[in-house]
Amino acid sequence: MAYTVQVGAIRCHILSDGLHYVDGGGFFGLVPRLMWERVIEPTPTNLVPCDSRSLLIESDAGLILVDVGNGDKLPPKVRERMGLSERNLRLVGEIARVGYKPEDIDIVVFTHFHGDHIGGATRWSDDGGEQVVIPTFPRARYIGNRIELADASFPNERTAATYIADNFRPLLERKQLEIVDGPQRLATGVRTDIAPGHTQAIQVVWVESQGESLLFLGDAASWAVHLSRLAWVPSFDIMPMISIETKRRLRHEAMEKNALLVFQHDPQVVTGRLVAGARGPEVEPVLTEPAHFDASA
Ligand SMILES: [Zn+2]
Repeated sequence: MAYTVQVGAIRCHILSDGLHYVDGGGFFGLVPRLMWERVIEPTPTNLVPCDSRSLLIESDAGLILVDVGNGDKLPPKVRERMGLSERNLRLVGEIARVGYKPEDIDIVVFTHFHGDHIGGATRWSDDGGEQVVIPTFPRARYIGNRIELADASFPNERTAATYIADNFRPLLERKQLEIVDGPQRLATGVRTDIAPGHTQAIQVVWVESQGESLLFLGDAASWAVHLSRLAWVPSFDIMPMISIETKRRLRHEAMEKNALLVFQHDPQVVTGRLVAGARGPEVEPVLTEPAHFDASA
């Protein structure tokens, strides 16, 4: 489902590449199931739904797209395991729903290089009977962090399944991937910040205009509950203790700015704002998904 939000003078669209399913232990790590199943009810095989949201920003530097979902290149077996539908260039459909085409995208920002965030950066194309991988957004300048690219290029046994060369190597070959270090200013009121924990150099994106702000958290806080409870750290995170400190810092900054928070993977809470709670700042949902929305639509 696509949602449009206005941040001061900047219009943003929250788009979805659809739901897939992951083991509850992935998102909730050491948290006992008895506690997290109050947040989301798992399937009988302990799976929980996971949304893949992107942010499309209408900036003065052009259209900026943050993350691009799973894409269509996953082998059928993997797709089946993740509960992904066949027609998964869903993000492109969502972009069309808000009035744009892939050719209109000027900048694509990768929060990090995991497959569920950059799989849609490239896609299969039929080149005279031969299947080749091409950039999904032909005119776009793709932006990724140097440390993230290094980790993705040389994965180890734990990370190999999520770092897939076809997602970024075709971009490098075409000189369409710009490698950056540290926080970046992408347009007036649009900037990235480094938020380590989930990976070494994951980026979050701030949109700020006329005293209003939006924070796209990526996997720095994948679900709203991860921000409300600092100790709830996904077992996906490679540096869990750092994740906690990153969340503490982002929470402080977001609270000060009364920022609208966008949760990338939360199947229920799309956006929220922080309010003072008994244990510190807590997320109060602003926009929630309809309970029975059709994930494959
Ligand atoms: Zn993720």
